[in-house]
Amino acid sequence: EVGMNAQDLGKLLHREPAEIVKKLFMLGVMTNQNQSLDKDAIELVAAEYGIDAQEKVHEDISDIDSMYDKLMDESKQSKHQVKRPPVVTIMGHVDHGKTTLLDRLRHTHVSAHEAGGITQKIGAYQVRIDDKPITFLDTPGHAAFSNMRERGAEVTDIVILVVAADDGVMPQTIEAIDHAKSAKVPIIVAINKMDAPGANPAHVTEQLMKYNLIPENYGGETIFVNISAKTGENVDELLQMILLQADVMELKADPTQKAIGTVIEAHLSRGRGPVADLLVQQGTLHTGDPIVVGNRFGRVRVMTNDRGRQVEKATPSMPVEITGLNDVPESADKIVVFDDEKTARSVGEQRAQAALQHARENVQHVTLDNLFDTM
Ligand code: GDP
Ligand code: MG
Repeated sequence: EVGMNAQDLGKLLHREPAEIVKKLFMLGVMTNQNQSLDKDAIELVAAEYGIDAQEKVHEDISDIDSMYDKLMDESKQSKHQVKRPPVVTIMGHVDHGKTTLLDRLRHTHVSAHEAGGITQKIGAYQVRIDDKPITFLDTPGHAAFSNMRERGAEVTDIVILVVAADDGVMPQTIEAIDHAKSAKVPIIVAINKMDAPGANPAHVTEQLMKYNLIPENYGGETIFVNISAKTGENVDELLQMILLQADVMELKADPTQKAIGTVIEAHLSRGRGPVADLLVQQGTLHTGDPIVVGNRFGRVRVMTNDRGRQVEKATPSMPVEITGLNDVPESADKIVVFDDEKTARSVGEQRAQAALQHARENVQHVTLDNLFDTM
């Protein structure tokens, strides 16, 4: 069960958490902002503000984003945390080799070791080096990264900045650096196209240092690897460096709790209905789990891993594809597991209704604005 604390209650009632804590104190309840409150305490405070607590508590359940945040915070403090694989996004200027690198990783490090090979593309896949997995998001470029971040989804642990050795720092290189920095995600620089005739990695390094990406041998902390996505030169080295960076970051998750995660992409399949590619971030997702995904709901019917194999459970940092939702969710939607399907359904329906209402209001706004614009 997700308990509500003074902070949550403050959010709901549009009051400062400190005010809630003070109110509780006056009512004889000693608590801090983070401590879970019991039902009686919640009702007491709500009554003080002239609010029917029953109704408000229900509304809180439907706030998937705060449930997700809360579960994320809880798992970060859990004693059951274990190491989890890093989640990596590849960024960089157009034509610098992002897709080539992703394809190489997919083919040399995934399918070659798997009987049957890759059968389908899902939004992310895991690569293994020395038997240690690394999760790659399969959508290079900045739009996907920005869209995720704008919607509060922080799934990327490490950014690989691909810079062509024969072209150097370009506008989208700088944009990628800005994105990663504002997301506080560490960058590993992959100077690509080392096989190309005009390759000049020293020049590229010099350029990057102006953006505060300083390699270790210049006294900085940024990992630089010279690679060729085309020939495969040093690609294993790059993977090793990702693991090294991940170790430094001590990435952990608690696989014992109910899963939370984020949708990477989703679509409607003619035969299978709504299909969502998602990344489990905390906990373990099981087949049969009742879930709310954004404004959608359902039960995990069939779960498939990045090798196209059916699986019964998905652990942290594992990308899976699921079916069983009532409708197609959106990328960056949050996933929360509920105790029973009935609650999941009612929360999902409530959210869909609210979203519809919101959309209607927005359409009206736009229409009015347009009207004034054209007058
Ligand atoms: P993206 O736009 O960043 O996804 O770049 P692509 O992966 O599509 O690569 C753009 C072009 O650069 C393609 O023609 C690739 O074959 C080529 N390319 C990518 N990596 C390398 C490399 O390591 N060496 C050389 N010589 N060419 C590469
Ligand atoms: Mg590409």
